[in-house]
Amino acid sequence: MKDSFLKESPLFEKKGDILICLACRRFCHIKEDSYGFCKARFNKNGKLMSPYGGISSMGLDPIEKKPLYHFLPGSLTLSFGMRGCNFKCLYCQNHEISFGAEDIPLKPFTAEQIADIATTEKTSTIVSTYNEPTISIEWGIEVFKEAQKKNPEIKKGIVSNGYFSPQALSLMKELDFIKIDLKSFDHEKFYKLTSANLDGVLESIKLSVSKGFWVEIVTPLVPDFNDSQDEIKSAASFIASIDPEIPWHITAYHPDFLMNNRGAQIQDIDIAVSIAKKVGLKNVYGGNIVNTRLSSTFCPLCGKEVIERGYMGLKKNLLIKGRCPFCKTMVKGVWEL
Ligand code: SF4
Repeated sequence: MKDSFLKESPLFEKKGDILICLACRRFCHIKEDSYGFCKARFNKNGKLMSPYGGISSMGLDPIEKKPLYHFLPGSLTLSFGMRGCNFKCLYCQNHEISFGAEDIPLKPFTAEQIADIATTEKTSTIVSTYNEPTISIEWGIEVFKEAQKKNPEIKKGIVSNGYFSPQALSLMKELDFIKIDLKSFDHEKFYKLTSANLDGVLESIKLSVSKGFWVEIVTPLVPDFNDSQDEIKSAASFIASIDPEIPWHITAYHPDFLMNNRGAQIQDIDIAVSIAKKVGLKNVYGGNIVNTRLSSTFCPLCGKEVIERGYMGLKKNLLIKGRCPFCKTMVKGVWEL
């Protein structure tokens, strides 16, 4: 344990001298003076210590950048990140703050200081992101509570790989929204890419929706890896079986870290979006590309454009209290505070 950015966590069970961490679906068995898989949660004298009291990065962004398209469009969000991850993704864009967590430097911050920034900048939302929020969920919850004290209207969310445990989810009562990655719909490929099991993520998606959190799903499309018609159809059918109006963002992967498949182009994304829409999903978007048609929202009934977006930002929102201005159909989402 290399620094003091840690606090005791209640999310564990004891088995003799071993602590079982209950934060994510790895349920690591952690020996004394050892880390779990994420290299961030630590067994110190029989107590489970979790990351606390600092940030690796912070930023003010349009909420469309998370990406969230059906949650307060055009609003500003405060993003904060910690360190560590429970996945080992071959294409990780945040590997500097995700792997080798014990060596990642943090800037000291109190939860109140972060909440103060959200208040000063008048953000509508605050989100734990950049690394995997589950790893420091206790810290995230403290920040959310402070933010809510200062602004009872503020909405709180996480940008997650979806491997959080049911126990962690039940701690996150303050949450309003969750963005979950569905990195592949093929068990073998999912494991090869992430070193984790697809079933855990599928369970988390179902559980999060059933508990009433606003959920949007993201799949980075990797050519010659997860872009086959069959895989896109299967993933779309899974999402549609929960709710055909769940927004699904199919975003363009770019080579990074240990993966060097070619980057996805607009045509690849366009094909995948069409397949998903044919399966019956109502809100499928292309992401990480510049294309208004693939990033705008169309009424599920009359098909007219109701929200126009540019690259990761809102251009025009015609919805009236969430309803299409042309045929009055309700479009699912959180449109107003
Ligand atoms: S958060 Fe997950 S990976 Fe990290 S120690 Fe806990 S169970 Fe293991």
